[in-house]
Amino acid sequence: MRACAALLLILVVACDAAPGGSSSRSSPAAASPTPSSSIAATATSRPATTPSPTPRPIADVLAQIDPAKLDDHMRALASFQSRHPLHPGHAKAVAYLMEQLSAIPGVVVQDVPTAYNGVRLDNILATIAPPGPRPEGFVDVAGMICAHYDSTANRTPGWRPAIDPAPGADDNATGAAALLEYARVLAADRASLRMPIVLAFFDGEEYFFKGSLAYLQSLPPNPFRWVINIDMVGFNPLADRLDLVYYTTKSASLRDRVREANQRYGIGVSPLVEQLATTDAFILDAAPFGLVGGIPSVALVQRYGENDATFPGNYTFHTVNDTPDKITNKRLWLKAAKLTLATALDLARGGAQL
Ligand SMILES: [Zn+2]
Repeated sequence: MRACAALLLILVVACDAAPGGSSSRSSPAAASPTPSSSIAATATSRPATTPSPTPRPIADVLAQIDPAKLDDHMRALASFQSRHPLHPGHAKAVAYLMEQLSAIPGVVVQDVPTAYNGVRLDNILATIAPPGPRPEGFVDVAGMICAHYDSTANRTPGWRPAIDPAPGADDNATGAAALLEYARVLAADRASLRMPIVLAFFDGEEYFFKGSLAYLQSLPPNPFRWVINIDMVGFNPLADRLDLVYYTTKSASLRDRVREANQRYGIGVSPLVEQLATTDAFILDAAPFGLVGGIPSVALVQRYGENDATFPGNYTFHTVNDTPDKITNKRLWLKAAKLTLATALDLARGGAQL
């Protein structure tokens, strides 16, 4: 089942090869040839790696996430009418993501196409790695933060995917906007990374994660150390609540890192409701990585399940009414964006282990 796609490193390119970001529409991003041998080889002949500048405290990096930019990205993505793969707005969304990401120095961008039932899907990958020679303790297997950008309104009666709107402001322009901000913030902070981070904008999630599954199946085993998925995080009039879905007990330590980051950086998601997922009934892009790939994988989402005391239900979900004005809890959105990035940075800087 698993096609053996050579995981050649795009990351070398990520090392400031090109002013501004570089982009390509082709093969998947991936890990480098074993750095240890190369570092070891050069370490003897090359003076010790220049100590990288002291990394900014993670709390300062989190503060770089700009709510106005989040909002601008969300509104731009919702303005294309629909991001359903059958709708003309989908190509506009792909172009927007490629253009925004390619404009950031130090980010390598790829459009990795796949297909589902003859429908083209475009997974957009942005890879960020430390500049220059590999720093001390560098690990060449990346961590991933992912969010789908495709949208649907299939709960609106009579909805026609190729014609009718599916603005998907909450589902999932909120998550895709967060990833665009991570690209900007992480690129500026990439000297602090001890492993590459891949930001994956998946397509076809509304077809039951067909984009993320196809991408996983194109890679050799264990392509990522961990996966954090952010999906639908802008609506809750009652509480700054998030569900933390973790895929199999293999993801328990990653779940714990998320909980710790919420406390350590005073992010203030409350309640943070942990849910164990052992089947694909939890239809989120982390599912293939956790259930099929056996990779520690979690998802942060406003609610996965029945309404309750801290979640009244989101009736715009998968309808033509999921519009920017329905993103009524921007404080929650910012907290979700920070919690995801805090956990990723704790792990990618080597401060936290799984
Ligand atoms: Zn979604």
